[in-house]
Amino acid sequence: MNISKIIIAGPCAAESKEQLFETAKGIFNTVYQNEYEPQNPNQKISDLKKTTGVVSSWNLDFFRCGIWKPRTNPKDFQGVGNIAFKWLKEIKEQFGFKICVEVASVEHVKFCLENNIDAIWIGARTTVNPFLVQTIADSVQNLPLTVLVKNPINPDINLWTGAIQRFKNVGIRNVIAIHRGFSVEHENVYRYAPCWEIPIAMKLKLSNIPIICDISHIAGNVPLQQTIAQTAMNYGFEGLMAEVHNAPETALSDRQQQLLPSQFVHLLQSINFAVQKNDADHALFIQRNLIKNIDIQISKLLSKRMEVVDEIATIKNKNALPALQPEQWKKVVTIYEKNALEDENYKQFLEDFLLLLHKSSLKRQR
Ligand code: PEP
Ligand code: MN
Repeated sequence: MNISKIIIAGPCAAESKEQLFETAKGIFNTVYQNEYEPQNPNQKISDLKKTTGVVSSWNLDFFRCGIWKPRTNPKDFQGVGNIAFKWLKEIKEQFGFKICVEVASVEHVKFCLENNIDAIWIGARTTVNPFLVQTIADSVQNLPLTVLVKNPINPDINLWTGAIQRFKNVGIRNVIAIHRGFSVEHENVYRYAPCWEIPIAMKLKLSNIPIICDISHIAGNVPLQQTIAQTAMNYGFEGLMAEVHNAPETALSDRQQQLLPSQFVHLLQSINFAVQKNDADHALFIQRNLIKNIDIQISKLLSKRMEVVDEIATIKNKNALPALQPEQWKKVVTIYEKNALEDENYKQFLEDFLLLLHKSSLKRQR
């Protein structure tokens, strides 16, 4: 099957010439399922591909890597800086890969443009800052550059769409959204919770912007990535981004989540790319998610209400008061009636529901 998706892979960070080269070679060889060893130093691997005529079912759209790393802790590896451009130039020549690098300032953009970088991505920590996004956008006005915009750290769809809009406004034709998950309060198995309703709402809102899924940062580990990738494909995402490293256990950043080239290709082979959902599925997904959150609240509140009923029962028992107090129940009914929909069917439902509620709370009290 031919995979007509946007595929981006490469290490979290450029660390050394050897690491970049080995990673690129690993990806290249597994794409073309063949060992390409240049016969002499002048022979380019990308030419060898042409002469042997091996055709793969997919293509690497961009080789990614961070040169400047936005790390939380200043003691962590901050990236190798501009020296990586020299290495990336060789990767581009040897393998024919287009290169994609993270930028977080106008200065970074300037260096990328001077070094013929094909695509830049805006990281999650930059998307949160509209001032910064605007200055970066102004610095690439009308350029034939692909710009990828990661979602902001926090689950705020408007910051994300706003950042994308800023690049569209300055005439960037190829803007791609990257879903990389969100920092959320509630506990979850992911490094960054996917909150699928947000990228799906984004697809509906900006339907002309392709969206790809960064499976590495959502998962934060290797085993979860396959399911995340399949889920993204099921929701009709246009592609995948993954961190791939020739020796993940030695990586200077994001060690747990980087895949070996062979693991990456195995993952791609295991995915069903044919499933597609339409706009109705997406709209339904968003509403179902809303209803799920409402049901969670209702179910918790109902349990809480019964616990309060128990407290009331204790007080009434101690003071020999009757369980049934019609005046009090009328007050409860009034609260529900005040918030009721103007609809006969709903009023009937409310009547039935309140009857049940009252009956079971009396039963508890007795
Ligand atoms: C990255 O892709 O290596 C990165 C730093 O990502 P994010 O901005 O999603 O944290
Ligand atoms: Mn990373």
